[in-house]
Amino acid sequence: MNLDKLLRNNIKALKPYSSARDEFSGEAEVFLDANENPFNAPYNRYPDPLQWAVKKKIAELKSIAPEKIFLGNGSDEPIDIIFRAFCEPGVDNMVSIDPTYGMYQVAADINNVEVRKVKLNEDFGFSAQKLLDASNLYTKAIFVCSPNNPTANLLDKVEIVKLLTEFDGLVVVDEAYIDFSPERSLLPELDNYENLIILQTFSKAWGMAGIRLGMAFAQPEIIRVFNKVKYPYNINILTQQKALELLDNSQEKEEWVKTIVDERSKMVKKLFKLSFVQVVYPSDANFILVKMHDARGIYEYLTEQKIIVRDRSKIALCDDCLRITIGSPKENKKLRKALKELI
Ligand SMILES: *Cc1c(COP(=O)(O)O)cnc(C)c1O
Repeated sequence: MNLDKLLRNNIKALKPYSSARDEFSGEAEVFLDANENPFNAPYNRYPDPLQWAVKKKIAELKSIAPEKIFLGNGSDEPIDIIFRAFCEPGVDNMVSIDPTYGMYQVAADINNVEVRKVKLNEDFGFSAQKLLDASNLYTKAIFVCSPNNPTANLLDKVEIVKLLTEFDGLVVVDEAYIDFSPERSLLPELDNYENLIILQTFSKAWGMAGIRLGMAFAQPEIIRVFNKVKYPYNINILTQQKALELLDNSQEKEEWVKTIVDERSKMVKKLFKLSFVQVVYPSDANFILVKMHDARGIYEYLTEQKIIVRDRSKIALCDDCLRITIGSPKENKKLRKALKELI
C-alpha cells in the first residue's frame, strides 16, 4: 500500500494548524503564549492536543506503542477523518458490508463519497471476495464491523485477513463491541498489516458514552495523517481527566462486561420461549437482534410501557427485527415481564 497515493492531494500538501502547545511543550513556569486567561485553573488552559497522558495509559493496557493510537470525539471522528483525508468528494468511493453501523454511510454522504454496499450472507457472515469485487481503482477504504451492529455477530477473521492482504487500500475494522465477544481483538496483528485501521470506543464496555472518546489504532504514518486533519484540541480537558481515572479502573469494566454477558445468555434463553419470537440471533455483543411477528407493533407496545428498544425492521436482512440492548438485571427483567404480559 502506498499511503501517498491513497491520500487526497490537498491533504498531502496541507500545512496543519500549529498551536501554541505544539510549538512549545517542554517544562515552563509562565505560560504567556496561548492567550489563555490566567484565572480559573485548570480549565483555563488548552488541553494537550495529542493527549499523551491518556495514550500512554491505553498503550500500557493494550501493549501497543502510543504513536499508533489516535483519540477522537467518539469513533465518529476517525470515521469522518478517513473520508476527509483519503476520499476525493465525488470521485473516490468506499465499500462496506450491509447492514452495518449507520454512521459510515452518513459520514460518507456528508463528504460526498459513494458507498458501495455488499449484502451480508443470510447467516450474517460475509465473503471478502464479494467486497473485493465491489471495489475499483477509486476505492480508498473497505469498512467492516466485528461484532457487527445491528446483526450482533463476529465476522470471520480469515475473511478479514483476506481483505487485508488482497485490498490495496485501507481496511477499517470497527471493534466497538469486541469486549463482549469470545474472540480477541485484531490489535496484536496491527504490525502485520500496514493498511489496517482498528476502531474501538469508550462508549460501550467502558460505560462512558457521555465523555465522547473513541480510539483508532494504525501504523504511525496513518495516525500522523489523522493528527494533521483533526481539530487541534479535539479532546477536551474534562474528557481526558475522566479517561485517565477510568483507565485505572479496568477491573470494574471487566466486571460490567461479565454481568452483561451473563444477562445476555439469560435474555436469549427467555426470549426463545415467547410464542411471537421467530429467531433470536446469536450475539457476540451487548445487544441481541430478535425477529418476531409484528416487530413494529411490539416496538410500539413497549414504548407505551416506557421501554425503548431499537426498531431495525426496515433494514436490509432485518425484516421484523428489533435490536435489544442488554441493560441492568432489573431493566432486563422489566422488559421480559412486559413481553410476557403481551401474550
Ligand atoms: C456504538 C458504536 C460505536 C461507538 O461510537 P462512538 O462515537 O465512539 O460513541 C462505533 N461503532 C459501532 C459499530 C457502534 O455500534
